[in-house]
Amino acid sequence: MSDPQHRRRIACAACTAAALLAAGCGGGHDAPQPVPTRSAAEVPPAPPPARPAGPRVRWHGPVEHLFVHPLVTRPSIAFHGAQGRGFRDYFITTGEFRRMLAQMYSRGWVLADIERAASGRLTVPRGRRPVILSVDDLNYYGYMRASGFGERLEIAPDGRVAVRDHGRDVRNDVVPVLDDFVAAHQDFAIDGAKGVIAVTGYEGLLGERTQDASAPDIAARRARVRRVVARMRATGWRFASHSWGHLDHATASAARIEADAERWRTQVEPLTGPTDVYVYPFGAAPSDGVRAVLYRRFGFRIFCTIDVRPVLKRTDGVVVVARRHVDGLAFDGQRANLRRFFDVGDVEDRAARR
Ligand SMILES: [Zn+2]
Repeated sequence: MSDPQHRRRIACAACTAAALLAAGCGGGHDAPQPVPTRSAAEVPPAPPPARPAGPRVRWHGPVEHLFVHPLVTRPSIAFHGAQGRGFRDYFITTGEFRRMLAQMYSRGWVLADIERAASGRLTVPRGRRPVILSVDDLNYYGYMRASGFGERLEIAPDGRVAVRDHGRDVRNDVVPVLDDFVAAHQDFAIDGAKGVIAVTGYEGLLGERTQDASAPDIAARRARVRRVVARMRATGWRFASHSWGHLDHATASAARIEADAERWRTQVEPLTGPTDVYVYPFGAAPSDGVRAVLYRRFGFRIFCTIDVRPVLKRTDGVVVVARRHVDGLAFDGQRANLRRFFDVGDVEDRAARR
């Protein structure tokens, strides 16, 4: 593994670790609890039946926001290879994600649009609670492809977004899994909102290596990713900048962050379309001055951090939104905090993680 790749992998993995420290995670940890074991087979749970949505009411409470990384589709490879510890700590499996969605739905959570939430004019069906979902690093980096993930997103012959994996179209990562869940439970998504996809640019996006301008098929790569993005935007997904190079904004210089934002604007934004959402790598916020540059010069207005409680704060024209991490570390240390969404013991694939 080359140095830059290694640094970036650790960087991504450290997203949540940095935030845990910032949030004073020691006090937030729960005592370990026994949980039932579960077969490694990723069998989708029987989805609960759809329910009619009640009348819409204005939401005045805190807005929750959860994030995940791309899903581990082959835990036997990802969790038990050379980087197994990192994958177990910072990722969840397809089966865990499916079980998590089913419990959230059963408990009355509904997916909300981040722009609507940031506007302060969110409405929800009476009796339901809104939650924003986001996905970091949906780039299918080389280190993921080699370790039990898919290759890229693409448009399947049936017109839906699928994961290309070993020459087949499969439906085992966040986008197709959630698309399928909402297709079966339309009242889970307020006005069809699904989630925020935060991408970097140093290895292209969505698994297409669009950063390699000298590739002979670069036009085809970009055309493919544009088709996927268009389909996703039309079906409730939004895109966000996760910086071009997965910079640690707490330590990078202002000049480096600006140059990186310029690179994202010229290389990635033409493919994702414009966005005003910025998801800090590591959850690490820069100084207010640097944030103001990202706002004024680059148009980013909604900034996502990481915390273990819901925060949505308007300040100096921008909106800061905190997100809870859902991963192996949270399964171990945030059980009580996650209980409002799902029971970790019902969701976690203990056999795969052992
Ligand atoms: Zn990241």
